[in-house]
Amino acid sequence: MDSFEYVSAPHRVVFGRGTLQELPSMLEKIKVKAVLILCTPQQVSTAEEVKAIIGDTGIAIFSEATMHTPTHITDKAVLVAQEKGVDGIVSVGGGSTVGLGKALSIRTGLPHLCIPTTYAGSEMTPILGETENGRKVTRRDPRILPTAVLYDVELFKTLPVTMTVYSGINAIAHAVEALYATNRNPIIDLLAYEGIRTLCIALPLLQADGNDPAARQQALYGAWLCGMCLGAVDMALHHKLCHTLGGMFNLPHAETHVVLLPHALAYNATAPAAAGAMVKLAAALPEAEGDPVRGINALYQRLGIDLSLKGLGMSEGGVDEACDVAIANPYKNPRVLEREGIRELIRRAWAGEAAKAKL
Ligand code: NAD
Repeated sequence: MDSFEYVSAPHRVVFGRGTLQELPSMLEKIKVKAVLILCTPQQVSTAEEVKAIIGDTGIAIFSEATMHTPTHITDKAVLVAQEKGVDGIVSVGGGSTVGLGKALSIRTGLPHLCIPTTYAGSEMTPILGETENGRKVTRRDPRILPTAVLYDVELFKTLPVTMTVYSGINAIAHAVEALYATNRNPIIDLLAYEGIRTLCIALPLLQADGNDPAARQQALYGAWLCGMCLGAVDMALHHKLCHTLGGMFNLPHAETHVVLLPHALAYNATAPAAAGAMVKLAAALPEAEGDPVRGINALYQRLGIDLSLKGLGMSEGGVDEACDVAIANPYKNPRVLEREGIRELIRRAWAGEAAKAKL
């Protein structure tokens, strides 16, 4: 890395166990006195827990957060925020709820405090993807970055082990792509390495014992670092493929990331522009023995991951369709997008084969 630019975003992060109790003082620090609490229909009880902690500051709960941030839901939330006269937003949940918080905050200018409950990392990014009439539009704007983030390890107790593993790999994938991002920098390299290394230790422990408190704390710490990577640098082939396929075939977010990661990594593994990244990645992945593809395959085997695009509901005909779209939209990637290789990447992911370097 001969030259680089490093921009750091100003926002407050509180991390720990039982930190939810610090929410009133955090809201005070960001000068918020009347909040709308956001959640999904599945996490109303968590939102109620939040409301109980902040007492009169919690004005109402809006529980319609939905995957891919549909604008008609955001419009509804804006109306509720206006009707209730709130001066701040608290989102408690995964990327879907954080997305709604961002969409509401950018429209209203209200400060937004996030309480993440998955490892997706959206809380650390100035990125918002919204869906209107089935079309997803993503934008980046510093004002989208949440005002403050409160990580409470205790809130991850309810995350099922399978979701823990998939969401954790989702986080790892962001750090993998950060290592070879064209706009990477030495700080992000450090965060990416440490995020991957930490999650690779924590996830197998959590899979063996979903109640292991130390592993849960370690996983969340790793996910925070990976989230910072996602927010700071450009993603490449893996991320774009996930969003292309997810949008085209309505595939689940975290699972799609999991299926595609080893294959996207295999595609880029031999690219000269990614050589330094692959050395760091191999060092972060246990059992890699110098080969990151071997390392990621070993991690998947250890975690018992057995997913395929076919299993997620994509038809075989989708392989060519997805390939056409994937190569039609050029984006930064350490290796040029070649039709034959990309098609084979998608085919292997569709069939659920193990990743192989030759692509
Ligand atoms: P999600 O937010 O859709 O959550 C999935 C399900 O798990 C929901 O029903 C949710 O209520 C439930 N859940 C979440 N945390 C839980 C917990 N601790 N216990 C029990 N249930 C829990 O899933 P996700 O993977 O976190 O987020 C995916 C969405 O986030 C996608 O729309 C994706 O595009 C977006 N995303 C955006 C960014 C960004 O930077 N803009 C980054 C990552 C993800």
